[in-house]
Formats: sequence, C-alpha cells, structure tokens
Amino acid sequence: MTNTLENKAKFIFITGGVVSSLGKGLASASLASILQCRGFKVRLRKLDPYLNVDPGTMSPLQHGEVYVTDDGTEADLDLGHYERFSGVPAKRTDSITTGKIYQRVIDKERHGDYLGATIQVIPHVTNEIKDFILSDVTDEDFVLCEIGGTVGDIEGQPYLEAIRQVAYDLGRERAMFIHVTLLPFIPTAGELKTKPTQHSVKKLQEYGIQPDMLLCRCCCEIPQNEKRKIALFCNIREENVITARDAESIYQVPIAYSEEGMDKQVCKHFGIDSDKPADLSKWRHIMDVLHNPEGTVKIAVVGKYVQLLEAYKSLGEALTHGGIANRFKVKIKWVDSEDIEKDGTDVHLNDVSAVLVPGGFGQRGTDGKIMAIRYAREHKIPFLGICFGMQMAVIETMRDLAGIKNAGTTEFGADCEPVVGLMTEWDKDGAKEIRHKDGDLGGTMRLGAYPCCLAPNSLVAKIYGSDKISERHRHRYEVNLAYEKVLNDAGLFVVGKSPDGKLPEIVERKDHPWFIGVQFHPELKSKPFAPHPLFVSFIAAAIEQSRLL
Ligand code: GLN
Repeated sequence: MTNTLENKAKFIFITGGVVSSLGKGLASASLASILQCRGFKVRLRKLDPYLNVDPGTMSPLQHGEVYVTDDGTEADLDLGHYERFSGVPAKRTDSITTGKIYQRVIDKERHGDYLGATIQVIPHVTNEIKDFILSDVTDEDFVLCEIGGTVGDIEGQPYLEAIRQVAYDLGRERAMFIHVTLLPFIPTAGELKTKPTQHSVKKLQEYGIQPDMLLCRCCCEIPQNEKRKIALFCNIREENVITARDAESIYQVPIAYSEEGMDKQVCKHFGIDSDKPADLSKWRHIMDVLHNPEGTVKIAVVGKYVQLLEAYKSLGEALTHGGIANRFKVKIKWVDSEDIEKDGTDVHLNDVSAVLVPGGFGQRGTDGKIMAIRYAREHKIPFLGICFGMQMAVIETMRDLAGIKNAGTTEFGADCEPVVGLMTEWDKDGAKEIRHKDGDLGGTMRLGAYPCCLAPNSLVAKIYGSDKISERHRHRYEVNLAYEKVLNDAGLFVVGKSPDGKLPEIVERKDHPWFIGVQFHPELKSKPFAPHPLFVSFIAAAIEQSRLL
C-alpha cells in the first residue's frame, strides 16, 4: 500500500443532500471523465454507510444490481458507472461499507492491535475510513470519493468526520468538497426553491465541512440571480454553483457539466491551469449516434426484477452500447417472466427481434424464462442467456429435446435431475477454492474474472476474435458436464470451458442463427467507448431479425 500523504493525488469528496437518488454516482463518474478529457489520471471510490459487509446478499429489488469487479469484489452499482465512464477497472480498494470497516476494527481489537484502548467511533472507526481513502493510490492526479446516502443520515456521520479530517491533514489545496443537492420547482409558485439546499449545506457545516462546489439537480436552468442567492447563503463562489439539469441521456451529462464550467472550476480550486478546455469529442460522437440512429430494434429482457430496472443497470447499458456500435437505437421491452407464465409467450414476445434472459436467483418466475427461451429457439429469434439465463437454456433443451422432463437445478432443491448443480470446488489462479453446502452465503460465490477457452470454429470464437477470453462471474451453481453428450445430441454445444476443462462457460446452438448462453456476465465489462463484442453481435443479429419481422 502506498501512503498517499507522500504523493500528490488530489482528493475530491462528493456528498449528497436533500433527497437520495440524485445521481451522485453518475455525477462522480461524469466529473472523472471530464477530468480525463483534460488529460488527468483519475480513480473513483465509493464509501457506503450501510452495515452490510458488501451488497452481495441484498435483494436486487431493494439495492439494484450488485456490480462485480475483476478481482471478485461485490460492490455497489455506482462502481459500474465509474468503470463505464472512466474505463478504469474498479478494484477491491475502491469500495467500502460500514460493515467492512467495523469488521476490520473488531478484528484488530481481537488481535490486540489497539493496546488496551477503549475502541470508539472516533478515532478508531474514522481512522479505518481514512486509511481506506488514502490507501492504494499511486500516480493518480485525482481520487474521487463518493459518500453514499444523504447528509444527516446517522450511518453517514463517521464518514463526514473522516473526510473532514483527511482534508485537514492534506490541506485544502489537495482536497475539495462537492455537495450534490436538489432545487425543486414548485409549479403553483412558478419558482425554484433554494431552501432545502441551504439547509443541507448548513447540516454539512455542522460537521465542519464547507462545500467548495454545489451541484444542483434541477428540471430547468437555474437563473443567475438564484445562483447568486445560493452562493451567498451557502458561502460558495457563484461560479461554483453548477446546474445539473435533468438530461435526456446519461451520456449527455459530462458534456452538460463541462459546459456549465464544472471541470474548469475544479481546476481553479486546485490552482491548475484551466485555460485549455476538455476534449469531449468522444462524448459528442456518442450523442451524435444516439441522435441520428439508422433505425430502432426492440429486444425483450425476460426477468423477475423488472419492477426495479436498477437491478439490470449494466445490462441495459451494455445493450445500448451494442446499439451504438451498430448505429441503432435499442428499445428494451422489460418482460416479467411471471407474466409470460400467465399470458403465454406470443403476447409478450411477438413484436421483438431478440430475447435476453439475464442473471437471477431462485425458482419464482423460472417457468416463464424457460418458455421465453423455447420461443426464441423454435422461432429462430436471436437469444442470449446470461448466467442464470444460460442455466435455464440448458434446462430447456434437456426437458424439451433430450426428454429429461425433470431436468432442473439443485438451487431449487434436490428433487430433480441435477443438470445444474452446486459448485463445491474449482480452480482459482492455480489454487483450489472449496465451498460447503451449508457455508456462508456472503462473498462465497465464484466471483470475478476467470479465463475461458473457446472452441475453434464456434460462433463465440468468431465474435471475440480470440480463443481465450476473461470474463467476470457471480454464481454458485454450474451446468453439470456429465450431461455434455446428451446436450450435444440435443443440439446444444459447450463451446467455452475453464482452462482445466472442468467448468462449462458457454453454450451455443448450431441449428440456430444466434443462440448463445454464457455463465459469466459480459454486461459488466461493456463501455460506451468499447462496447462488448457479444452485445455488438447480439444487436447486429437482432437488426437482421428485425428485417424479417
Ligand atoms: N442463481 C444462479 C447461480 O448462483 C445464477 C446466478 C446469476 O445469474 N448471477 O449459479
């Protein structure tokens, strides 16, 4: 670990006020990207005040997607925004929660590291947070740290104290506080209201933090006189009151912030020459494609968390990226798999050009997913199954084409032909990972990047243009290779395996134009500037299919 006090990285702390869901993650990712467009090296970090050790065991319906990094960290979905916007791969040292902080403090206490001291929130918990913020920083120009939650939350207090202390230790020339707030528009008064922002800044000041910049979410432009008022009451320079107007597309956000002068003011804060503007051409190119597509293609995503689309954040993004690469707009039809069970496939799938069944957990809604897969297979509609979606594709083939009617996964209990079963042992970087049936659920899946070898002449090898790939995983169950021959005879081929040949990673059909199932999550690595090849190819196949509709 490198002690950052010795290098020159500058720290930007992003807090949120007034209400949650203001898009702090996207704001942080956008600022990082525009700083990159000025030639700076950045790093992004998320500090989550909740007590879970990581979000891995939280319901996707409550917390949205669990993002997985190459090094196998299960993290908040904001790390996905960070990676997609900055292209910098997130790591274990970029994500922390109160649960993890307390775990470390208690481990040290048990180990006797505190030499008889009474362990307290200040300094022990705050020191642990400070160590996290300052650790593993090398040659970055800027480290952006986003504090989860809203100012005033009880859980967030130690974090505010810690960042106040870091700014004190480093000196204000190496630290900056940006506070994201909301300016509501009251239609009956015809006015923007600044009071909640004023209160939120006061709250922050109670913790000893004077924000240097306000990023005000708003449905319209903020008139200059309102900016002046906010600046005066909140003790901030007028140019540092930045409008974060609701955007038509998230890809518009970096351009909009830069036009508001955000990066320029950040540079000024740190005494960096700000005359040369950021080169935003890559973002402008994306907006140009989104504004002028050659057509629209409709894709069904059949899952069970469709009431909260945050649960499929990276997936929605990756599909859009696939569209950008093909200069097509992707319209996603989110289909609840239980609705397919109720209404049948035709009603929900007869107007789409491709079907995607994403990752998932548990039995509810699986019959609908299997019905959707059968529909795509029989109608020769492009199909992509991801993780659970691949497992369901295997079960579908086994039940319908191999005559094994009770083919299933042991995830739903032992009462089935175990075509998909619990993984208890696998290889990671030459060492054995071992799991037990009744072990802990948190952090124990097969997580992070693993290599995979592709069969020559397979469609996937052609798509990737390579015979060895690395993709990110998050699963506990695995297709049982004992059934490989039966699967082949039924037309589904295992075309990707772990290097030791023990774990199947990809299946595809040869009697279908585009039918692929992957055990990993390709959506986690797709970026607007580097769309994932599987999504590029899947959307291209869907466009072909749309010409037949
Ligand atoms: N529930 C399945 C497993 O644990 C699939 C997980 C997923 O789709 N991410 O293997």
